[in-house]
Amino acid sequence: MNLDKNKAGTRSVWAGETTPFADGSAVVPVYNTVTFAYDDLAEWTDVALGRRDGHIYSRNTNPTVAVLEEKIRILEGAEAATSFATGMAAISNTLFALLAPGDRVVSINDSYGGTSRLLLEHLPRLGVDAVLCDTADHDALERAMEGGCQLVYLETPTNPTLKILDIERLAAAAHRAGAIVVCDNTFATPINQNPLALGADLVVHSATKYLGGHSDVMCGLLCGRKDLIETVFRFREITGASLHADAAYRTIRGMKTLELRVDRQNESALGIARWLGGQSGVARVFHPGLEDHEGHAIARRQMRGFGGMLSFELQGDMDTVQRFTGALHLAHRAASLGSVGTLVGPPSVTSHVEMTRQQRAALGIPETLIRYSVGIENMEDLIADLEQALKTI
Ligand SMILES: *Cc1c(COP(=O)(O)O)cnc(C)c1O
Repeated sequence: MNLDKNKAGTRSVWAGETTPFADGSAVVPVYNTVTFAYDDLAEWTDVALGRRDGHIYSRNTNPTVAVLEEKIRILEGAEAATSFATGMAAISNTLFALLAPGDRVVSINDSYGGTSRLLLEHLPRLGVDAVLCDTADHDALERAMEGGCQLVYLETPTNPTLKILDIERLAAAAHRAGAIVVCDNTFATPINQNPLALGADLVVHSATKYLGGHSDVMCGLLCGRKDLIETVFRFREITGASLHADAAYRTIRGMKTLELRVDRQNESALGIARWLGGQSGVARVFHPGLEDHEGHAIARRQMRGFGGMLSFELQGDMDTVQRFTGALHLAHRAASLGSVGTLVGPPSVTSHVEMTRQQRAALGIPETLIRYSVGIENMEDLIADLEQALKTI
């Protein structure tokens, strides 16, 4: 069955699972096997050489993992997809597989911390240069691309102030420069945004976040142009950063409710952001759905929903932050995001803890910023919880 005409909510349930599995199983079996047995040597040889479909060894391919890859492929409208043990495995294998000494990458200052480290520490050791621009400065990004580059690495919305990049404009500029475009779509999810349709060549996900959705599995996914996926997949076969069948199963199970969760989180995050804007004690609220957000117009154009992440600056100091976060009942004080349960953390102690105060200020991250990953709880309960916590400061 061709699922392409169906909406995302239907695709996330059915993609990769339209025909029953072995013994008529209606749910994908978890193939907890390292290896796959063949009595016929000719058939074994054909599968090993890729002349015939099949599996040889689970570091390379596995039937449960293949179902997950088909799911993300269909959800993002991609030619091909592959998977990894974590989001960082997806990002690092992609960059290491596609770049060579002498190459230049153009990216943004606000990319995920691990991605920044790759670009600034690990790739330069191998002779790959990275130029990081001010995230919202599209002119600067275009100028950097005109200076010559092989790969443009985008991420939108960004962490933690939800800056928005115009994917269509930047992908066009990258292609004029002869570069391929990789876009981290973790914050938006395929429900809210499809970077491939806007011109990106590859989309990467930390499925650890919204796709898995329950904070109980780590997973990385990559999809897009078939030739590029093939190159990265061949590299991953050797680095061994493969996804386990158990993790694939949990991610598949999480993805079936992706649209339900993300629609709810979109609505709650916008409602909470608007409510926070009217509260004393809150200096500033960052959410791309707010009309006064710097990237709102672009977000309106390229996203179907604004996402479940928001951040806000408290008036006060780190003691205020401690008191406020400590008073919340309906949030784990923890790293990560995109789960069914609300997660809260100040970037100054989580994602940006290794930076100095000055470095954070340069990125526009106030010391008293609170990042709030809205879960699927009832919005009124979350607002009541925030309200009582604000009263303590
Ligand atoms: C968490 C995250 C990653 C890294 O994913 P892991 O699964 O933790 O390795 C990459 N990009 C973004 C935007 C993330 O939020």
